[in-house]
Parts: sequence; C-alpha cells; structure tokens
Amino acid sequence: MLEVDGLRKYFGPNEAVRGVSFRADKGEVLGFLGPNGAGKTTTMRMITGFLPPSAGTARVCGHDVGTDPVAVKRCLGYLPENAPAYDSMTVTDFLRFGAGIRGFRGKVGRDRVDETVVTCRLEQVRHQAIGTLSKGYRQRTCFAQAVLHDPPVLIMDEPTDGLDPNQKHLVREMIQDMAKEKTIIISTHILEEVEAVCSRCVIISHGEIVANGTPDELKAQSPSGTLAETFRMLTLDKEGENHG
Ligand code: ATP
Repeated sequence: MLEVDGLRKYFGPNEAVRGVSFRADKGEVLGFLGPNGAGKTTTMRMITGFLPPSAGTARVCGHDVGTDPVAVKRCLGYLPENAPAYDSMTVTDFLRFGAGIRGFRGKVGRDRVDETVVTCRLEQVRHQAIGTLSKGYRQRTCFAQAVLHDPPVLIMDEPTDGLDPNQKHLVREMIQDMAKEKTIIISTHILEEVEAVCSRCVIISHGEIVANGTPDELKAQSPSGTLAETFRMLTLDKEGENHG
C-alpha cells in the first residue's frame, strides 16, 4: 500500500531526512514518532507530494510520487499539522467545496458529504461557520476534508494535538473505525496514543529511523518495559539533548 524507499531531504546544508525507508500495509495504523525536529513532517510532506525529495521515493498504491503525483494524491488523504480551513464557510459548504475539487458533483457529491459528516460526527455543527467552531470540531472538519474521497491511505500529522482528552478519544475512535479498510500513518508525540491506536511504530531521530516494530516489541527494548523509556534511550544523545 505504501512503500518509502531511501527518502532524503536537504534544506541547504542541513540534512533533515537521511535515507528513510519503511512500508505500511492495509489494516495497519503506523505511528510515526520522534522528538521535535526529527524529520516527521518533512517525511510526510515528501510522501504526500507536497515537498520534492532530494533523493529516494515513495510509492502509494503502486504510484510513484515523483512521476505520478496526481495518482498518489487521488489515493491518499492528508491531514497536515494546523490544517487550513475557510473560516467563513459552513462545515457543509467547505466539504462540498472539497468534494467538487475532487470531482464529486451533484447527488454523488452531496451523498459523500452527508456520509462524511456522519463518520466524523459533525451533524450538530454542519451548518455552522468554521470560524465559530471549537477546536475539536474544527479539527474533525479538517479530518473530514482529508477522508471525503474515502482514500485507501491516510496520513495525519499530529491529529490530536491541542485537543482535550474527550476530543482526543473521539478522534482516536474515528481512526480505529477506519483502520481495517485503510493504511493509516499518524505522527504524534503522545506515547499513550501509540499504545491506544497503533499496530506498529517507527521512531525517527535526527532524520533516521532508529526503531520499527510493534508497541510491545519497542517496550521490551527498555529495562522498565515502557515506551517512554525506549523512546528516550533511542532519541536522546549523550548530552541528554535532542537538538529539536
Ligand atoms: P515537530 O515534532 O517539532 O513537528 P518534526 O519531526 O516534524 O518536528 P520537521 O518539521 O520535519 O520535524 O523538521 C526537521 C528539520 O528540518 C528541522 O531541523 C527543521 O528546522 C528543518 N526544516 C523543516 N522544514 C524546513 C524548511 N522549509 N526550511 C528549512 N528547514 C526546514
């Protein structure tokens, strides 16, 4: 479903991503973990075709992002960090606008929007302007925009960042509901989130993958058997800093 092969990114002399390779299959929720500045967002932006890699490639549903970015965008949904939305539009209008851009028109478009409103639990606010929504509803509206076309691959950058515990729980439930039919990658700093929703996780530090396994396999790598300790052992350098 998703194959990432030797991705690299230089920003001037700074090599932010240093040869990242991994794959994810249908039914997996892959947690992408790492300290601030480790290269998670840069990797996600390269996979989704929003940033050209300096080297390497990503294939989504068999399409190479370098040679066929349109096909890649068709089969993935991307929820960026601080996703943009039009504050003056209502939730329904924003989703209809997104449906139109993706080629869903007339009744087909309206049906897609109605289904997505239910999936993302937005019924109560569907006629409300986005600028007046609480953070939880706003985030779920952006989530809805990312899954409107029912993509087989979903990539989400810190999808629960800044949400209260109830809203976090709701978003995690939505991710789990979709997980069976899709390949999902979420980046997060929240280790409990990994244990709650991820079937596997990749840890990235200084632009390189330092671990790739199930949450239980990673926990077993530390003396205390916790993900937090494994994360610290793998991502803190000798001075105890992560240079994020
Ligand atoms: P965080 O958890 O804080 O969101 P991250 O793991 O997503 O961090 P990235 O945002 O991918 O990390 O950043 C990786 C490195 O690349 C950092 O050193 C960052 O400063 C640098 N970087 C990212 N985008 C750019 C850019 N457009 N221009 C220059 N440097 C950049």
